[in-house]
Amino acid sequence: MTAAGKADAHAGPRRVLALCGGVGGAKLAFGLQAALGPALTVMVNTGDDFTHLGLAISPDIDTVLYTLAGLSDPVRGWGRAGETWQFMSALRQLGGEDWFQLGDLDLAMHVERTGRLAGGARLSEVVAGTAGRLGLAARILPMSDDPVRTMVETPQGLLAFQHYFVRERCAPPVLRLSFEGAETARILPELADLLAGDGLDAVIICPSNPYLSIDPILALPGLREALALCPAPVVAVSPLIGGRAVKGPTAKIMDELGIGAGTAAIAAHYLGLADGLVIDTADAADAAGVAASGLACRVAPTLMTGPAERVALADECLAFARELGTRRRVGHAAKAQPGSLS
Ligand code: GDP
Repeated sequence: MTAAGKADAHAGPRRVLALCGGVGGAKLAFGLQAALGPALTVMVNTGDDFTHLGLAISPDIDTVLYTLAGLSDPVRGWGRAGETWQFMSALRQLGGEDWFQLGDLDLAMHVERTGRLAGGARLSEVVAGTAGRLGLAARILPMSDDPVRTMVETPQGLLAFQHYFVRERCAPPVLRLSFEGAETARILPELADLLAGDGLDAVIICPSNPYLSIDPILALPGLREALALCPAPVVAVSPLIGGRAVKGPTAKIMDELGIGAGTAAIAAHYLGLADGLVIDTADAADAAGVAASGLACRVAPTLMTGPAERVALADECLAFARELGTRRRVGHAAKAQPGSLS
């Protein structure tokens, strides 16, 4: 039985908000969509977005769209399955910039989005439209319609995110991260409403890179406060397994920023924001430390090698949120009516 089935039996319909970056986050969002269908809203990082060859490119949004539609390439980990590369070879022949790979199928997404944005549509409208065309059950929304751009300070200067991530292959040490535009960007109103209402049963922070994918979302003015006031429990999933990233530079960046890669650092990062942290069975020895730091901790297999593992982890997160929900509701009631629980 899926988590949605279990929830129907025990707790009525559930609405869940997932905070998500690209590849790692999208895997869990896939599992959550399988469990929850239209009750899932995914708030996606847009700090990786950029304009390239005149095209508006939103890498994390596209990874989420392709993954949830079952179109993503399982081997490469990004882009579409069955992709061809004729555009890139023609571009190379003409001497065009070829450090950022744009497959022929993927190109359709960027051309279509660029055209709609140029015609005056908001990014959220374009994404919702595309999600509908791809037949997704979940609601996929960019964190904001206002531009936020992740910038990476390195010894070789300040790099725009894709220049750091793709062109330089994450090689330069990260000295500092900043999110240009975040101070004035507004949380997407639909998402602000969702957080402000009492219809949410859980917020799940996917196992995306906390520094590159989740922090740009958290940098939006008012978002941390909205999460703190939201009565739904907040569950984060660690992107580290055995102290290492499954893929990408998370552990490298943690070392470079002087945080040190490990469960304790991930817990410290989400303390005060999340109520609970899911860690992998390989890191079970860290559970007591997480609990001592003030976060509830659940140990579960978190490596999502295929659809079954994605759904299993989604079920774990939802079950954990259900347990935490009671505690959080008690906490909120106590805050609302001081002394009522004494
Ligand atoms: P990006 O924006 O495409 O780099 O993707 P994300 O930020 O969403 O995800 C990157 C993070 O996902 C890395 O830190 C990985 O360790 C983590 N990740 C990828 N696959 C898995 C998985 O199966 N389980 C867990 N726990 N983390 C994963």
